[in-house]
Amino acid sequence: MASKYIIVVGGVLSGIGKGIATSSIGRIIENYGYSTTAVKIDPYINYDAGTLRPTEHGEVWVTDDGGEIDQDLGNYERFLSKDIPKENNITTGQVYKSVIDRERAGKYLGQTVQFIPHIPDEIIRRIKKASEGFDVGVVEIGGTIGDYENMPYLFAVRSLIRMEGKENLAIVMLSYLPIPSHIDEMKTKPTQQAIRQLSEHGIFPDIILCRAKTSLDPVRRKKIETYANIETDCVISAPDTNCIYEVPINFEKENLGAKLLDRLKLPIKKKPDWSRWTELLDGMMNPKVNINVAMVCKYLDIGKFSLRDSYISVSRALIDAGAGDKVGVNIKWIDSKDIEKEGVGVLEDVDGIIVPGGFGEEGFEGKIESIRYARENKVPFLGLCLGMQLALVEYARNVMGLAEANTIEADPSTPHKVINFYGMQEKLLEEKKIGATMRLGAYAAQLKRKSKVFEWYENTGRLKYDGKRLKEIKEDFRLGVLAKGEPVVLERHRHRYEVNPEYIKDFEESGVIFSGFHQPLSGEPLMEFMELPDHPFFVATQAHPEFKARLENPSPLFLGLIKSILNNK
Ligand code: GLN
Repeated sequence: MASKYIIVVGGVLSGIGKGIATSSIGRIIENYGYSTTAVKIDPYINYDAGTLRPTEHGEVWVTDDGGEIDQDLGNYERFLSKDIPKENNITTGQVYKSVIDRERAGKYLGQTVQFIPHIPDEIIRRIKKASEGFDVGVVEIGGTIGDYENMPYLFAVRSLIRMEGKENLAIVMLSYLPIPSHIDEMKTKPTQQAIRQLSEHGIFPDIILCRAKTSLDPVRRKKIETYANIETDCVISAPDTNCIYEVPINFEKENLGAKLLDRLKLPIKKKPDWSRWTELLDGMMNPKVNINVAMVCKYLDIGKFSLRDSYISVSRALIDAGAGDKVGVNIKWIDSKDIEKEGVGVLEDVDGIIVPGGFGEEGFEGKIESIRYARENKVPFLGLCLGMQLALVEYARNVMGLAEANTIEADPSTPHKVINFYGMQEKLLEEKKIGATMRLGAYAAQLKRKSKVFEWYENTGRLKYDGKRLKEIKEDFRLGVLAKGEPVVLERHRHRYEVNPEYIKDFEESGVIFSGFHQPLSGEPLMEFMELPDHPFFVATQAHPEFKARLENPSPLFLGLIKSILNNK
């Protein structure tokens, strides 16, 4: 059990950066010397985020243990620089399912199973379980105070305060202060109302983070202080920033960490060291060189506002990888369907090309055309998951002369299924057990020495050898069979199709280097990385390396892409 908890709730409206605030708080506490984890509560009924639409909810984050989760968990991992398991995401669907399963199993015999106490009890059990072994658990409650869906969670928080004691729980409320343009004045009223709504649940904020376009002035600070009945220094200004990584630095300007520790009766264990963090932030904000990278996507069709969210980890992995060398990365967002209509002309001014993952055949041909452009014109290229599958389709068609080659996802009747089902999948799909057919979470890949992929993983200290240091992986099937002494990397997956083993030899004979593979406990090896020689950087992976990219530990392949762009320039 964690000894202390920090609960983050949202007032006024959603979309004001509660995930970033939670991640920042976690990182701050960690920097004061306390081991910290972060927990996300999503009050929807979906069991997990796997079936949500990326253009509506943003990208799905994948954990080492195969959880498909809200993208906030990605921010937690990027800020805390640690792997976070799927149990750190709690949804209303999971809570109810556990209670109902327990009821069916006769665990509540004779009792009436009710909303109170059974639902909050299960919520508390899950919060405690996820925080176990850490000094502090930072828990973010999704949605906004006043949402009906939030009620069971606020009830659980109130019980947790009673059970754990006031000094072991701090409540942080993130609020928003609008500045209506016609009066040009910052208004505190919505925040006052949010405080009142929270107090109706028997919960009183210890810290109020005031999100607004600008900083808070003393008059408004005082107003909020009086209304919430807290000290002025517990009202913290959170103005807009240019970069999410500025947020913890801004919070620390107002000593948020020390205030939270004081509230939790925890002494300051160590003086926080933000030097590396600020150096990276500076690299991002004041770059010495700028590069343009095209992101050839397929989920851009509902307007500019959601586009960034559908590929948030990929764009973060790329931008963050530039920070260390003071490289500013401009992303040129390209809809692959536009390439199908208008050709590859839009790629002419870019320095590098990324083809990220995706599902469903729409836009595949445009992606294939972009890959061809990158290969033929020696433009540095990184393919992610679907990006690797289509890189092989492109190669089969245009180099190996298999004009009709395809992935069965786009054309199930192609005579050349270079990307195909694997093992049991076909049967599961026939039985309509679609969810069970995905390869999800971390898998070990053994790398070929003397490859670009090996070089980049080695350069960045990410290689592991011979099953050692792989203790973080609990399930054997994720490691598969590891050859003694061979270099191994762990990356996360989320896909259904694989390189067809029947074509591996042909690909290799035509010049493709498969630089890494996963050897399952039984069955044929699965190709995890590919690259082309005689090209500055043409690398693709079946995995999603963006899920293991952190600000302070950037992803090797993204670094490789950037370095080769710089060399090319
Ligand atoms: N649609 C492909 C598959 O399921 C690729 C998935 C992805 O890019 N994440 O295999």
